[in-house]
Amino acid sequence: MTERYDLHCHSTASDGALSPTALVQRAHQNGVTALALTDHDTTMGLAEAHVCADALGMRLIDGIELSTSWQNKCLHIVGLGIDPYYAPLANATHELQATRLERAAKIAEKLEKKHITGAFEAVKKAAGQGMITRSHFADFLLSQFHVSTQQEAFDRYLGKGKPAFVATTWADMEIAIHWITEAGGVAVLAHPLRYKLTANWMKRLLAAFKDAGGQSMEVVTGRNNVDEIKLLATYANQFALAGSVGSDFHSPVTPWVELGRLAPLPDNIQPVWELLN
Ligand code: AMP
Ligand code: MN
Ligand code: MN
Ligand code: MN
Repeated sequence: MTERYDLHCHSTASDGALSPTALVQRAHQNGVTALALTDHDTTMGLAEAHVCADALGMRLIDGIELSTSWQNKCLHIVGLGIDPYYAPLANATHELQATRLERAAKIAEKLEKKHITGAFEAVKKAAGQGMITRSHFADFLLSQFHVSTQQEAFDRYLGKGKPAFVATTWADMEIAIHWITEAGGVAVLAHPLRYKLTANWMKRLLAAFKDAGGQSMEVVTGRNNVDEIKLLATYANQFALAGSVGSDFHSPVTPWVELGRLAPLPDNIQPVWELLN
């Protein structure tokens, strides 16, 4: 049987709209046979996702998307095939949860200066046991009619340099890669074109990522077009990185990004699944 992979998506354990169960069901309906759940900085959704995947006879790969810092930039590193109970990684997720809670309090304070009240309580309630993210703030701003789209919430309040932006020091990228590899996983640079790097910076990043033990980069995502995929494939070959495919699905309300709806990985790229046990 040919597998159909989607190796990047989010559940209510972070900023996804669907519970792990609903997410796995939707992926299965879309024909995905191997799914990695990669919530922001947490593995909390994996246990529930496994129960559902087992019932459906679908392969679920244990994943995470770590927020990391490198050269003053925030970069996302996906870990695939990790042991979620590996202590340094598990400890890091607990610290990141505290970091995110403190950051949320600061974001809410900044919003109060803009006469927007009640954000902290609202995002805590919305996130529940899961990770609080800026998406929760965007949803709150939307629900209170301060903005009319999620994008506008980032453009006016939450994005870098905007009034409610809080600079955060995340896990060091090299250390995060070590946690992933020591946890038995493969470190994958997520959505490399999202960081708006020049070609020079991209090459510096890929060299540093590779040096630190990174083995793969996303070559096909839910948002990239044919030219972008070609460019990413060139980088993957240049730095001898395996290629990953992941929709980065968050919610059914953005139908242009859908679980399992992904272009094929270019032939000349080593698939990341060959590195997964
Ligand atoms: P955080 O990790 O808390 O900084 O939140 C980042 C999340 O916000 C990302 O994973 C996206 O889901 C979402 N996000 C970031 N930038 C934007 C944007 N410009 N428009 C919509 N959502 C965004
Ligand atoms: Mn997100
Ligand atoms: Mn990301
Ligand atoms: Mn993501």
